[in-house]
Amino acid sequence: MPFFRSLYRRGTSGCSDLKEFSLNTALARKIQQDFCCRIPFIKDIRQDESNIKLLLQFPDGVMIETVVLFMNRYSTICVSTQAGCARGCTFCETGRLGLMRNLTAGEIVGQLLSVRFYLGIKVSNLVLMGMGEPFDNFENVIMAIEIISDQRGINIPVSSITVSTAGHVPGIRKLASHIRSGISPDLKRLCLAVSLHSADNDNRGVMMPINRIWPLEELKQAIKEFPLARQRDRIFIEYTLIPGVNDSPEDARQLVTYLKGIQSCVNIIPCNPGNNGLYRRPSREQVEKFFNLLQHMGQYCRIRDTKGDTIQAACGQLGGLVLKKRSG
Ligand code: SAH
Ligand code: SF4
Repeated sequence: MPFFRSLYRRGTSGCSDLKEFSLNTALARKIQQDFCCRIPFIKDIRQDESNIKLLLQFPDGVMIETVVLFMNRYSTICVSTQAGCARGCTFCETGRLGLMRNLTAGEIVGQLLSVRFYLGIKVSNLVLMGMGEPFDNFENVIMAIEIISDQRGINIPVSSITVSTAGHVPGIRKLASHIRSGISPDLKRLCLAVSLHSADNDNRGVMMPINRIWPLEELKQAIKEFPLARQRDRIFIEYTLIPGVNDSPEDARQLVTYLKGIQSCVNIIPCNPGNNGLYRRPSREQVEKFFNLLQHMGQYCRIRDTKGDTIQAACGQLGGLVLKKRSG
């Protein structure tokens, strides 16, 4: 326990200098050998007025990106759960990388430790919305959330943590059963975000190949059954708005119909165009028009302002630095 506290509260990965180990230096050495807890190396760093993007490298050479967003008095860290992603959504840069490998729980937590102890930034919120599909790496993600929320260490409350999935139905169900069965009762306050982007199976299947495995009907059932801790809690529905793809009045109507019976908040995210030139960014008017359509139909929704796009740190833009360093 002293080791856990010193690692997560002070960023000290050695235990020989802890007073609790002064009587047993052999034990201190053994712990040092058996547990590798190196904080990931920062290979590159980009910054604008309200965001920092880090390129982190692990000892095996694998690189990932992590973003810190500053909003008023809060700072939010957006962590990666995989190096790359196997899900291949057509609008997402990370999807274009393919999957290198899953991150360990230590590597997920390590992103936060780099920010905390190398840059001295105290983080108040955490979103698992960086590179990767969290439920393709379920066990490590859950273990990382348990470590990060542990009151004896980093102590970010579970209610300030959001996990975002592209619609991995078994993952949503497994998380729900962990919460219900009491395997991980503390996770009941965890915020769940589901990236929907279209409520039409054909359209969604083109944008998100995962929809061909778990189509909208199955996804809706899993979301409906997901336990919410309090009556006023909502499932977040991420909707990346792409002109000419999913922004028509009919798209809005289908979305509202789909979400009937689900306590939800739609986050409208203006599309950040990637490097493949396939999609455009919507104008402010197009975003507001879609927002008004949803509101008039009684759907609770918000516009998520684009942040970090000048340093390629916005949603769906993670992977550019990795690609650049890999190829050169
Ligand atoms: N794999 C998970 C979490 C990482 S992606 C998921 O898909 O939910 C984080 C969010 O960024 C998702 O909502 C995703 O759909 C969104 N996103 C991806 N590419 C985007 C782009 N080009 N513009 C805006 N948002 C994008
Ligand atoms: Fe993977 Fe999410 Fe990007 Fe889709 S949007 S490719 S699931 S990271």
